[in-house]
Amino acid sequence: MATTARKPRKTASKARAESNGKLIYTFAEGDASMRSTLGGKGAGLAEMTNAGLPVPPGFTITTQACNAYYEAGKELPPGLWDDVVAHMKELEQQTGKGFGDPANPLLVSVRSGAAFSMPGMMDTVLNLGLNPDTVQGLIALTGNERFAWDAWRRFVAMFGRIVLDLKAEDFDEPFDELKHKAKAKLDTDLTAEQLREIGNRFAEIVKEKTQGEFPTDPYRQLELAVRAVFDSWFGKRAHDYREFNKIPHDLGTAVNVVTMVFGNMGDDSGTGVAFTRDPNTGEKALYGEYLTNAQGEDVVAGVRTPDKISQMRDAMPEVYTQFEAIAQRLEGHYRDMQDLEFTIERGTLYMLQTRSGKRTAPAAIKIAVDMVNEGVLTKEEAIQRVDPAQIVQLLLPRFDDAAKEKMTDQLLGKGLNASPGAAVGQAIFDPDRAVAAKEGGHPVILVRVETSPDDVHGMLAAKGVLTARGGATSHAAVVARSMGLPCVAGAESLKIDYPKREMRAGSVTVREGELISIDGTTGEIYAGELPTIEARFEDEHDLATLLSWADESRRLQVWANADYPRDAERARAFGAQGIGLCRTEHMFFEEDRLPTVRRMILNAHAATAAKAKADADRTDDDRAAIATFDAALAELEKLQTDDFAGLFRAMDGLPVVIRLIDPPLHEFLPAYDELVGETTRLRTTLELTGGSNGVDAGLVQQGLVKLFGKKDAARAMRRLNLSAPEEGAAASEPMDRSALERELTEKTELLHAVEAMREQNPMLGLRGVRLGLMVPDVVKMQTRAILAGAARVAAEGLTPLPEIMIPLVGHVNELRETREILEAEVARIVETSGQQVDYKFGTMIEVPRGALTADEIAEHAEFFSFGTNDLTQMGFGYSRDDAEGKFLMQYVDRKILPENPFQVLDAAGIGQLVRMGVEKGRAAKKDLKIGICGEHGGDPQSIAFCHEVGLNYVSCSPFRVPVARLAAAQAAIASTETRDK
Ligand code: ADP
Ligand code: MG
Ligand code: MG
Repeated sequence: MATTARKPRKTASKARAESNGKLIYTFAEGDASMRSTLGGKGAGLAEMTNAGLPVPPGFTITTQACNAYYEAGKELPPGLWDDVVAHMKELEQQTGKGFGDPANPLLVSVRSGAAFSMPGMMDTVLNLGLNPDTVQGLIALTGNERFAWDAWRRFVAMFGRIVLDLKAEDFDEPFDELKHKAKAKLDTDLTAEQLREIGNRFAEIVKEKTQGEFPTDPYRQLELAVRAVFDSWFGKRAHDYREFNKIPHDLGTAVNVVTMVFGNMGDDSGTGVAFTRDPNTGEKALYGEYLTNAQGEDVVAGVRTPDKISQMRDAMPEVYTQFEAIAQRLEGHYRDMQDLEFTIERGTLYMLQTRSGKRTAPAAIKIAVDMVNEGVLTKEEAIQRVDPAQIVQLLLPRFDDAAKEKMTDQLLGKGLNASPGAAVGQAIFDPDRAVAAKEGGHPVILVRVETSPDDVHGMLAAKGVLTARGGATSHAAVVARSMGLPCVAGAESLKIDYPKREMRAGSVTVREGELISIDGTTGEIYAGELPTIEARFEDEHDLATLLSWADESRRLQVWANADYPRDAERARAFGAQGIGLCRTEHMFFEEDRLPTVRRMILNAHAATAAKAKADADRTDDDRAAIATFDAALAELEKLQTDDFAGLFRAMDGLPVVIRLIDPPLHEFLPAYDELVGETTRLRTTLELTGGSNGVDAGLVQQGLVKLFGKKDAARAMRRLNLSAPEEGAAASEPMDRSALERELTEKTELLHAVEAMREQNPMLGLRGVRLGLMVPDVVKMQTRAILAGAARVAAEGLTPLPEIMIPLVGHVNELRETREILEAEVARIVETSGQQVDYKFGTMIEVPRGALTADEIAEHAEFFSFGTNDLTQMGFGYSRDDAEGKFLMQYVDRKILPENPFQVLDAAGIGQLVRMGVEKGRAAKKDLKIGICGEHGGDPQSIAFCHEVGLNYVSCSPFRVPVARLAAAQAAIASTETRDK
């Protein structure tokens, strides 16, 4: 997401320095434009320093230094260390303190900070420079023994954990023990003496675990900490986070060395985190938390429950007023909502961080709209501030934030927000039991320590997935995202106990079958059932405002793919300006129509051949085939006329593109293999039971088991309405042989028909325009139904705008001939209805040859629509179902392909076909209307491509329409900006 919209005010000298091999910048030397060199944190500290805000002095080691460290095999680049020492001397001068000086010790924090904020992914050490001598100095200097020992124990634990790689528990457990022994509820209840004791205990723990003394030399501490921060860039956590968020791995992290200020010096001290607006709702008010007598990490780590920032107004009114003014100033300066960290040392405020705050989808939209109304942003900037994915999120059902606030006591923990969405279900700890629970009608959350391919059936049965281990690219996360399942991964605080079928979170135990709620958008896990709310597009007023601005900016129209009137209505409510694809065959699949469709299909080839004969040459069979076929078609014509009329009504005044039948006919028939199985079973059963009318179920079962194995035999028995006999007992049940025989005859006929239509490669076989040319009656019927539906709606006083689309054209002659056949049908309807209907004929461009000869094809088409699913399949030579199941996901993981080309249009390859299609098509017909109706029409990156090559519209699923409106505007704005440059 864009953060600073303002042009960076990079000075010439700074720009030069950035490429000058300079590895360290003091805060005074940097500025906000130097994110890539200083990281977000460093750039923010520099910008605040130069704005005159109270920032403790410090310096930033650049991301280039981090990269050099890696290139040199984890060696500090030459000169870096001398430079660090020189800058430490400078800090000593500025602060009047000495690094390692027991009389007046300088302490620093060593903080990571990459160009993109990666919250919680990398490390920071506070209070560095402490050792047994400097602690004494701190005591003497401040007269505050408790504070000094508090700083000491914090430092040893943090350094041990982050720099020396010890576990948090190594320190947490003895600390909790001590608190328990001392009957101290909070760490602030501990005395100086107790804190000293625990600090020294920590140092011993380090000694035991690392078999070395705790490093007391401050420069040694500093070097180790700097290396630790560099190393954390390539830690697994950070690596996974970047994979998930598509952040490149070669950016590196900067290291910030900042003079310590102390929020733990008593009740006039404290620390806090605040947002300039509410990051959940976007409301314009300071939002945050603070703790008195604490250090920075306490707020985030939740060691004590912090107070609301508003309470600071009463507790420290002067500091609050100062902070509020600074917050406003920073927001105005960056022209975006800021996430701020601050510390108050004995009544003096220090700013420690500013960055653009992460926010929920509703907040992102509200803030963008509000900032336009406040005169801070232009409409174009606001449009660019919102990620199209946030619109998707806004329109998913989600947990009610208000309810969440009330249920904080039920919060079990937090993991990675691995796949967005809200899910409620029974916690089930085993995939098989998850399937069983689902079959029992219960919603399920599959809870596993981690998942593997063995768990996938359980995931499929679940409403959501929760794991205790693993990051954003763990199996659970990747699979859940691909299934669109909400997922929270790596919730390490959960203790999952498979044998006991329960999990523990702190003191709470959740047993299998109890309800939990997981929020894949935030990573939160709750006990019980959180209420969800359906998004109501009509109620999202800020979104409507933002989209209305988007509509002013975009050039691309946004249409929708819809097969039914109710989808069309929804699409129209979402702002669709037409229907770009109605797949008529979906109407064929409806249960009550399928028998008619099958009758039509089973006779299609015979009837077509018979109709080609002279009447006198036709046999009785020919006549029967024609009669059945025509009757079925007539029935379907009536139904389709109604269907189309419904669509035209819903889209009154807007274009509706209807695609004539596209898939091969046998797709409407049962699968070949299934029919083979069923007929074999039927025949065998009849043979086994000989000529008798009674049947020996035991005998049948034995025979079936021998032939098909236990499972299939049981299925066949059920199908035959036979129950398996009790062990040993020979039961006999009456069976209607004639019914079985009838079924066998029917199934065998069907099998022959399916066999005759079978193709080696149906995707490349008799379908689309080819089918229309071989069996013209079906598309003729559809054309009549379209025109008649339109005529009916026109007679009602509405304006239907049908566009008839012919799929899979690869050669101009296919289109020319089809069109001739269909125009005759149109003429017939126009004549009989007496209604003048404004209709168009056009074609899909989805076969590569179609794109290559688009100029010839355009002569016979009034519009093109790119079917980029097929174009991608045929351009790559992949069959999508096989590819996605077998290798494509691996291709993407292994970076053989940058993305799944079925999700994001392959601009470099398939995009060339699109571009060529547009250019050649328009060269032949200047105002040829061109759109895209593949799935790519709803993908922001692909939409940008469509904008660039000059399509007239994108067509996507109704729910994607708002996303596409925004993405189309962003594409238009971005291309104007590049042109202006
Ligand atoms: P993160 O990026 O995880 O927030 P930070 O580097 O910002 O890590 O530091 C962690 C915490 O320590 C923050 O609350 C921060 O404000 C605090 N902190 C960092 N440096 C100092 C310092 N020099 N003096 C006091 N507190 C600090
Ligand atoms: Mg921070
Ligand atoms: Mg297609």
